[in-house]
Amino acid sequence: MSKTVVAVGGHIGDMELTAGPTLAKVVLEGGRAIIVDCTYGERGHPRLAPSVYREQKLHEARFFADSIGAELVTLDYSDGFLPDDEAVAEQIAAVIRDTAPDILITHWIHSMHRDHERAAQGALRGAFLASIPIEEIDAPRHSVPTILHAENWEDMEGFEADTFFAIPDDAYERWLVGISEHAFARGETYGFRFIDYYSALMQVKGCLVGEKRAAAFRSAGTEKFALAGP
Ligand SMILES: [Zn+2]
Repeated sequence: MSKTVVAVGGHIGDMELTAGPTLAKVVLEGGRAIIVDCTYGERGHPRLAPSVYREQKLHEARFFADSIGAELVTLDYSDGFLPDDEAVAEQIAAVIRDTAPDILITHWIHSMHRDHERAAQGALRGAFLASIPIEEIDAPRHSVPTILHAENWEDMEGFEADTFFAIPDDAYERWLVGISEHAFARGETYGFRFIDYYSALMQVKGCLVGEKRAAAFRSAGTEKFALAGP
């Protein structure tokens, strides 16, 4: 089934890591994947100056998108300084109106990184803005049927997965090629073995749903139902 998926991340590398295998699968099935990176993530290297690392991050983002056949949109915000404002949401809304995704993926709403939380809020607000009629905007409005939060070890406070996608070998292999170009994912910045972590995580989640590998997500909006009851 060919679907269009938009994935909105706080830094270059976030959605590539967490939503990347699912995006690779979507493209292999004839669908369309669009990665929206809100900031460059250029302050994430202990030795490279941000201006230097920024160029490397842009290369890594383009390499990853090319590896899996995704489109790349980078918003021009600085790592650590993603604002919580309408301008961010409007830029994301424009992508949603333009591409009419079946699925929108973003961070969980709680994170150790403010940029992740703000990217998630911007994506949710962007989905709302894209769904309502605004007379000044020519593009047709679009209501995203499914909004999902990706599992990310940095965004785990209160996260519980409720949606799983099987990740076939060819999607995993494409993801691995693309993500291996990212220095931080290889453990070269602060030493965390991201690629090993997410590869193992896909196997763990696969065990839970009877697949070789699976990627886990949480449906947006379900938290309000958890609070309801007699
Ligand atoms: Zn990040």
